[in-house]
Amino acid sequence: MSDCLFCNIVKGHIPAKRLFESESVLAFLDIDPKAPSHVLVIPKVHLANVIELSKYAPSLSFELMDAIGSIASTLNLTSGFRIVSNTGDDGGQTVHHLHFHILGGRPMGWPPG
Ligand code: 5GP
Ligand code: ZN
Repeated sequence: MSDCLFCNIVKGHIPAKRLFESESVLAFLDIDPKAPSHVLVIPKVHLANVIELSKYAPSLSFELMDAIGSIASTLNLTSGFRIVSNTGDDGGQTVHHLHFHILGGRPMGWPPG
């Protein structure tokens, strides 16, 4: 998807501070952090959201969760963190390339807004 922001980050056409990379997964710092640690974890292939993930590439779910675990350890988020994947308009998704937010370094409120 040539006009997708995160596909362009994957290709290196748009710079990002990369924290983790494998053949199929990329993680980088969010440009507008909502917590002391705010990382975005994405599949390199373009999938719009978790529905497409489960439909077209369910085995990637494992790799994404594995990456999230590694990153949380690397960032030393020992007292906890939150994973969020906003989905669709009501979910507050603004970039329509699947991503998991890792938010940590402060207590998280509940319920979310
Ligand atoms: P969403 O709102 O779709 O759940 O999350 C999109 C996230 O992408 C937001 O937290 C936003 O700050 C982040 N973001 C938007 N544009 C860029 C960018 O160019 N670079 C990086 N690293 N993050 C971005
Ligand atoms: Zn994309």
